[in-house]
Amino acid sequence: MVLSELALRLNCTEYKNWVKAGHCLLLLRACLQGFIRAEVDAFHQRILSGAPNLGPRASCSGGVRCTPRARQFQPQCELCAEWKKEILKHHTNRNGDIYWGNCKPECWPFDPWELAKPHFPKGTGLNNLQSIFQAFMPRGLADKKGPEECDAVALLSLINSCDHFRIDRKKVIEVIKCRNEIMHSSEMKVSSTWLQDFQKKIQSFLNEFRNIPEIAATSARVEQLLTSDWAVHIPGDDQLDGPESETKIHLSESEINEIEMELLREKLQENYLQAEEQAISPEKIVKNVEAMKIFLRNNKDLRISFEEEIQKLEDLNLQYQKCTKEPGK
Ligand SMILES: [Zn+2]
Repeated sequence: MVLSELALRLNCTEYKNWVKAGHCLLLLRACLQGFIRAEVDAFHQRILSGAPNLGPRASCSGGVRCTPRARQFQPQCELCAEWKKEILKHHTNRNGDIYWGNCKPECWPFDPWELAKPHFPKGTGLNNLQSIFQAFMPRGLADKKGPEECDAVALLSLINSCDHFRIDRKKVIEVIKCRNEIMHSSEMKVSSTWLQDFQKKIQSFLNEFRNIPEIAATSARVEQLLTSDWAVHIPGDDQLDGPESETKIHLSESEINEIEMELLREKLQENYLQAEEQAISPEKIVKNVEAMKIFLRNNKDLRISFEEEIQKLEDLNLQYQKCTKEPGK
């Protein structure tokens, strides 16, 4: 019996843990989207009911002068200045870094989703490495048209930094930390102890929203997922997984593979984002990119699916090395 590539990968408990934890994040993101869309609309309504003059009939008169850059925004018209004040009033990190560069202030009067953007964690900061990475980013946070296009961390940051969301913020921060540990793990492995701790944290966060049926349903699914073992079901082979146990969930290869692919794609995006923002040292970026490339290359099934991405990773590494060697960078 030849084990499939996927079955071999899942033989490694730490990798399986990583995929499971990542899958929970994907479920989390999916269940938050509808809720967040509705809450952002409500937040916009709430601001307008207190200040009707900021509504859809108002328009920015500052033009290009009201365009924010990275962390800077000095509104040049009264309307944008008022909106900035309102946003800051509800921002839980109003004295810290706010990435105004994500925002299109002229849209605040009529597009509730634009209000979400000053709460996102990252912007496309302008730096001299930016042009290199632009080619790797499908689009920046500024272009996210709604919660459906956001990853879990953007949605969690919004919940954390906008006081419209009434929740114990410590619980959100814990989940954000776990998410970053998953996405920044260059080995793509987490221990079983880590997974248990993650389960406590994500459940405790989801519990805050137990009155929302969709989120409660996800909470139940996450619990089932994290308390059971995964086995790959290979048709015609019943002995592969050893003795049956009640807590074993059988998934088809394609089901697990789909989860894996989505997760790996998100991790790749995260690598590019970190590189673009220079959030970590160049050496670490090169190390992460290299580890990811080797992993994809060593697994034949992934190598085929991620052919284009492997090439991109190679280009990224080359350009990065060239760029960091150039004097006066
Ligand atoms: Zn303006």
